[in-house]
Amino acid sequence: MQQLEESTPVEVDAAVRDLWSRALDVVRGELNELVFKTWFHDTEPLGLVGTDILVSVSNTWGRDWLKNRYSGLLSAALSQMSGHAMGVQFVVRQAPGTIDQQPAAVEETFPARDEDLAPQISEPASDAGISPRDPGASSDLSMRYTFDRFVAGDSNRLAYQCALAVAETPVFKYNPLFMYGGSGLGKTHLLQAIGNYIITYYPHLKVRYVDAQHMVDDFTDAIRSKSMDSFRRRYRENDVLLVDDVQALISKKETQEEFFRTFKVLSGGNKQIVLTSDRPPYELETLHERLISRFNHGMIADINPPELETRVAILKKKVEAEGGAAVPNDVLTLIAERASANVRELEGALIRVRAYAVLTPDRTITVELARDVLKGMFPDRATRPISVHTIQNEVCKFFAIPMTDLVSNKRSQNIVFPRQIAMYLSRELTDLSLPRIGAEFGGRDHTTVIHANAKITHLLTERREVLNQIQTLTNSIRQKS
Ligand code: ADP
Ligand code: MG
Repeated sequence: MQQLEESTPVEVDAAVRDLWSRALDVVRGELNELVFKTWFHDTEPLGLVGTDILVSVSNTWGRDWLKNRYSGLLSAALSQMSGHAMGVQFVVRQAPGTIDQQPAAVEETFPARDEDLAPQISEPASDAGISPRDPGASSDLSMRYTFDRFVAGDSNRLAYQCALAVAETPVFKYNPLFMYGGSGLGKTHLLQAIGNYIITYYPHLKVRYVDAQHMVDDFTDAIRSKSMDSFRRRYRENDVLLVDDVQALISKKETQEEFFRTFKVLSGGNKQIVLTSDRPPYELETLHERLISRFNHGMIADINPPELETRVAILKKKVEAEGGAAVPNDVLTLIAERASANVRELEGALIRVRAYAVLTPDRTITVELARDVLKGMFPDRATRPISVHTIQNEVCKFFAIPMTDLVSNKRSQNIVFPRQIAMYLSRELTDLSLPRIGAEFGGRDHTTVIHANAKITHLLTERREVLNQIQTLTNSIRQKS
């Protein structure tokens, strides 16, 4: 780190601060708000080094991204404000007692070269003037999953920033981006956020989001119906291919081959690939060797379970986004303390607490009420992982219907409702992906599971009886596990 000029630190400070904040105003006007906030919110001017302004940031990843991507824009703004040529230098701020470390999960073997980071495509348009996108444009993307709705904390910041970097500069950077982490930690959310961002700001790019299991099924169908050509077109004619839960690809050798070819075509054509997985790449053997390690510009980012503070922030954001009755802070903290494994569980707990309160006479959410609701959800003892089979069994017993009906094609209401309940509970209580859950229910499509989930979530707030059934079933399922 270079020495600051020592002359008159106080005056320099005020003038530099002012200069920096005016330069940031210029930059802010050029970028959309989300991008601006992500990269610039924690920048802090320190002083001058020659004609450069020295700025501190909180981590190395942010520093490199700012340096490589925004130095030009900043220099221009600073020069314009000060009336003479100026540049900018970034240093990482050292919090007391910490050392500046590269995040552990950044694969050192895939250095991003500086020239690759220079903007090669135009900046995304700013928020103004963007018309809402055609909702039918990319039907597999849910608008719920945006960067705005994602809470970044220490546990997921690297993945969040990598995802946003790819979304900002699709096709050219970090290819493939590989994000991994346990179930319910936000992988699908980030993956879809990339897709939503790109179709909003780069509407000319063709984006496809797909769950890897769906891709496997699609492949099998294509072979059976001799329609490999259209299968290939579906996956190859994209600018951005987002593949969720790629661990599903490792089970079958033949399908893997086809995927390697697909990925080769895409990367050869300078297309963006983003992958997620529930385990690190080195546990995916062939996939790792043939898909990930061969790319020069790949990036690997892990996602860890969120810390308490992040969990509370996630709950707050959800309450805010959903509207409805306020939830007191001590209740949010209680939920965050109890539901600590992952975000899906956290959301499930919030839904139940709110649903329960809606159905009480005065509709107030208190700590006592929350404690009551959560007791059934999170018994104090450790339990084995819950299987879909256990859930199905308990649901069948509870509604007195045979298992064969539950997983059959029957559409009568006395079967459909228990089936939806069982799917809802499978989503909440197991780690399985939507297609896997669908498969466990007589080979249904993942959209059926999404529908069931939405239906029961809605009913929970409408009918006390449904909430009670869910509570009772959760209890008995936990006891069986
Ligand atoms: P995964 O794909 O890793 O299993 P998801 O992306 O499906 O997890 O996340 C589960 C739920 O938690 C989703 O509803 C998602 O919106 C939410 N979620 C996860 N992480 C966050 C976060 N950091 N901020 C806000 N919501 C989150
Ligand atoms: Mg997922």
